[in-house]
Amino acid sequence: MKADAVQADVDRVAEIVEKLGYRPHLMPGASRTAIGITGNQGAVDPAHFENLPGVADAIRVTKPYKLISKDLRPEKSVIKVGNAEIGGDELAVIAGPCAVETPDQVFKVAEFVAKSGAKFFRGGAFKPRTSPYAFQGKGEDGLKILSEVRDRFGLNIVTEAMDERGIDLVEKYGDCIQIGARNMQNFSLLKYAGKTRKPVLLKRGLSATLEEFLLAAEYVMAEGNYDVILCERGIRTFGTHARNTMDLSVIPAVHRLTHLPIIVDPSHGTGRNYMVNPMARAGVAVGADGLIIEVHPCPEEALCDGAQALTPEQYLELHEQISAIHKILASEHMEMMAI
Ligand code: PEP
Ligand code: MN
Repeated sequence: MKADAVQADVDRVAEIVEKLGYRPHLMPGASRTAIGITGNQGAVDPAHFENLPGVADAIRVTKPYKLISKDLRPEKSVIKVGNAEIGGDELAVIAGPCAVETPDQVFKVAEFVAKSGAKFFRGGAFKPRTSPYAFQGKGEDGLKILSEVRDRFGLNIVTEAMDERGIDLVEKYGDCIQIGARNMQNFSLLKYAGKTRKPVLLKRGLSATLEEFLLAAEYVMAEGNYDVILCERGIRTFGTHARNTMDLSVIPAVHRLTHLPIIVDPSHGTGRNYMVNPMARAGVAVGADGLIIEVHPCPEEALCDGAQALTPEQYLELHEQISAIHKILASEHMEMMAI
């Protein structure tokens, strides 16, 4: 729509899309509203819309993904998560333990995360473990501890759901639904998350191509939830020196193709404590909109992913470094804009 289009213009287009038997997706932005159309089998004739008041252009999106595409919405999406944002000018830092273990463990980390100035807290209450005998998470009791973190420290809660019941519970206690790497192509779960009104942090599958990753995001959006944040968390390759291979080249590729923000997870991306800091810095340098970092008060005692957990002190040091890198990039960006 044109920048000066009024709500009635937007509603009129949406109404016509519905009358044609398709689904309109209204995506308001800072300067203009984009309206995506899905549900059509063949091409839709642009003549239906072109001359309506407020319409700037009717564009055919030829890519397999539509709603996430920059063709539909050239402007970057800034996603509201609780009382903060991901995808805006500020670097979004999500930190916390891999799993919620005890209130004491969680609150200890939360204190450091809040002190660093980060606005988001992570911690799994439902853990997708390789072995059925490994710690599976504390379930709803864990979510209650996380919700106490929000009350006490003002941090916004990002936490994983593995099934529909989990999504209902995360909607109740959390601020952002994490869909893990192992569920990236759980299409019924993606659709269910698409029907909620909570933002979704979608992690890249263990061996997902960029197109598969983007189409997974499209599943969520096709149901009407446009608040999706992508996360590169490393993929499986032949390398054995790290848990996964963190594919940083996906960051500029995502920025080129979509309006969605993307963050990096150097914890799962490397699996090794000593690699987390350098790869986090690299992630910021290539333009990630944020990071998700695992922190444990005592990594050697962690019930899950201790080898990749930072100590609170290491985390504070990392936070300073990535903030400095982000600041340089932001000021360079300003200079480029001035030129
Ligand atoms: C996690 O964030 O704790 C997690 C299980 O991540 P992933 O789905 O990327 O393995
Ligand atoms: Mn983990």
